Amino acid sequence: MATTTHILGYPRIGEQRELKFGLEKYWRGEIDQVQLQALGSDLRTQNWALQKEAGLEFVTAGDFAWYDHVLTTSLLLGHVPARHRHSGHSVQEQSALELDTLFNVARGQSQQQCGCQGHAASDMTKWFNTNYHYIVPEFGANDQFQVSWPQLFEEINQALQQGHQVKPVLLGPVSYLYLGKEIEEGFDRLSLLPRVLAAYQDILAKLAAQGVTWVQIDEPILALELESPWLESFALAYQTLQSEVKLLLTTYFDSVSHVLSKIVTLPVDGLHVDLASAPEQLNEVVNLLPEDWVLSVGVINGRNVWRANLSEWIERLEPVKQQLGERLWIASSCSLLHSPVNLDAETKLTPEVQSWFAFAKQKVAEVVLLGKALDNDPAAILACDTYSQPIIARQSALHVNKPHVQDRVEQITPALSQRSEPYQARAHHQHEVLNLPLLPTTTIGSFPQTAEIRALRSAFRQGRLAKADYVAAIKEQIADAVQRQEALGLDVLVHGEPERNDMVEYFAEHLSGFQTTEFGWVQSYGSRCVKPAIVVADIEREQPITVEWSTYAQSLTQKQMKGMLTGPVTILCWTFPREDISRKAITQQLALALRDEVHDLQAAGIHIIQIDEPAIREGLPLKRRDHQAYLDWAVEAFRIAASSAKSETQIHTHMCYSEFNEIIESVAAMDADVITIETSRSNMELLKAFEEFHYPNEIGPGVYDIHSPNIPAQGWIEELIRTAATKIPVERLWVNPDCGLKTRNWAEVEASLTNMVLAAKALRQEFAQ
Ligand code: GLN
Ligand code: ZN
Repeated sequence: MATTTHILGYPRIGEQRELKFGLEKYWRGEIDQVQLQALGSDLRTQNWALQKEAGLEFVTAGDFAWYDHVLTTSLLLGHVPARHRHSGHSVQEQSALELDTLFNVARGQSQQQCGCQGHAASDMTKWFNTNYHYIVPEFGANDQFQVSWPQLFEEINQALQQGHQVKPVLLGPVSYLYLGKEIEEGFDRLSLLPRVLAAYQDILAKLAAQGVTWVQIDEPILALELESPWLESFALAYQTLQSEVKLLLTTYFDSVSHVLSKIVTLPVDGLHVDLASAPEQLNEVVNLLPEDWVLSVGVINGRNVWRANLSEWIERLEPVKQQLGERLWIASSCSLLHSPVNLDAETKLTPEVQSWFAFAKQKVAEVVLLGKALDNDPAAILACDTYSQPIIARQSALHVNKPHVQDRVEQITPALSQRSEPYQARAHHQHEVLNLPLLPTTTIGSFPQTAEIRALRSAFRQGRLAKADYVAAIKEQIADAVQRQEALGLDVLVHGEPERNDMVEYFAEHLSGFQTTEFGWVQSYGSRCVKPAIVVADIEREQPITVEWSTYAQSLTQKQMKGMLTGPVTILCWTFPREDISRKAITQQLALALRDEVHDLQAAGIHIIQIDEPAIREGLPLKRRDHQAYLDWAVEAFRIAASSAKSETQIHTHMCYSEFNEIIESVAAMDADVITIETSRSNMELLKAFEEFHYPNEIGPGVYDIHSPNIPAQGWIEELIRTAATKIPVERLWVNPDCGLKTRNWAEVEASLTNMVLAAKALRQEFAQ
């Protein structure tokens, strides 16, 4: 019998982002639900046909989601926040769950929609260490779970009717509970497990009745370092879930060798492990695998864009195949949800670069081809060889591995990540040069990205606007932003970033070593997609990137103009990395490139430079035991970038989230002269972290939430600053919003900043007394 091949899930958005556009039309009322349902059905039909035609043993169902698969699970379990359960005006009546219920949980309900005071959406958070976001399930002590939403079963029927052998995917019960949060005090959501399990039993019985043989049950939390009650609960869970269907217990994103001895005691029928992220676990898993289990090896990386080296995998897996025979399955490492859809859609890649990549559709073909090769099909073995050639050739290509870039990384010494003097001494010089008042005011970098600015950039991109005209028009925008900031009375100005569509994409486009794509979209949340650039070669800065804009802006004002860069770790986290060198090595190359930019900005007369690192926390590895090693190189990379600054050049950094406690020491170790952070949404709660740990340098705790259109009152801002001043010496406090202002309009920005400047001025007097 042929080796069993499958994938853990296929992108749901469609090759041309059809689902995104369909959803947005539906939300705007331009199409009705029947039309939207038809679109979803078409997308599933196409995805299954593609999997079948490629030759996968199973097509996967249950991976489609109207918004997010965790939210789909909530609906499947009939587990919806009470505030979203009623329909229309009758608050008491519990209506049946339907598609709009799902959208209400995800997006919230306005006053208008529900005829009441409105209902907040559920929270959204990052799916493990990917850039996908899921809707966080909310748990209360009295929650009930009952299979309520027929979508999954309808999809199975649809696939069966189309003649497919179908393998449904379910988010496992323990992960479902773990990924949610309690909304009541003093109760533990794990106590809901028996009730959740009863619903899962029902689901499995229904699937069995439909004729399903295998179910992929995802328990990705097994890759984490679980607290023991959670880990122990797997035994109860899987003893309860005995049914006629076979269960493939599915893990991904990291190794499970630390819990393998527990896993192998569970009464399931197979295990999937992610060998793309943790290849080292293979031998141990094979050795401990129960005799009657299948082992699904995830070798085709579902979360990157690179063509697999299939020849290497054949070699690695051949002995395993000998040992396990038909019990060895070949798969993608995780759902292909995290990879762009179809490489064939690209029209602008060179043939060489094209031959390095594989998107979801191509990854399906890789899984199939590898399966055939392991069955000793000579044509497939040969095809694997040919297929792997470009990726092997790339390893020694000099335009990929640039000796001068690598030499420079090799020569990094500890001195390169040291400013010339400690903060105290630097602060002294900066004080003399910068001439700033107490409680200096500034903003985080971007100003409103108006329709006019976006039109300019797109005209330039499409070649409708000549370079010189584009530059002149952007300069006009900068001049406008400078003028407005002077009128507002801000102390440290910014140029406003009108030339940037996105803080990472902009640098990726201006550094060599990156490739951008036309259609490489990946779902981020709901209908939102991102198109990350790809690191394809050693990174270098061929010429200054931001200097012209910043010096132009500085020439317009006597005030200090802050240069604006995106930090090395953030660029790494928000792009597709190379797989042939480490994340650390990529980040070091970025750090050196940015270091040169810092140097050039400084030489051109810029005295304050901000290096944004909003992604530093999300780059943390899944396991706590790996955190410090990551933080060490991440901090070092930032310091390498910053340390070409002389003592009198002030380095700022910016981070926008509020869970700092865990990484606060590393944040301090970055040794930026000033850090601006998000605090306003949590009413300065974050400052607690800074209370317990004495942050040694200057801080600008965000004094208002830029995500809200509300205009903060002067008095309210003053209160926040007074609170901050009880924790941090006022001499080291800055006054600023909590993030960039690109999503706001000028009316909101000017009104808010007016109050912010007034608050700072009032407090200067108060503190001077
Ligand atoms: N400088 C960037 C801006 O203002 C920072 C964005 C961010 O923190 N994500 O837009
Ligand atoms: Zn921010």
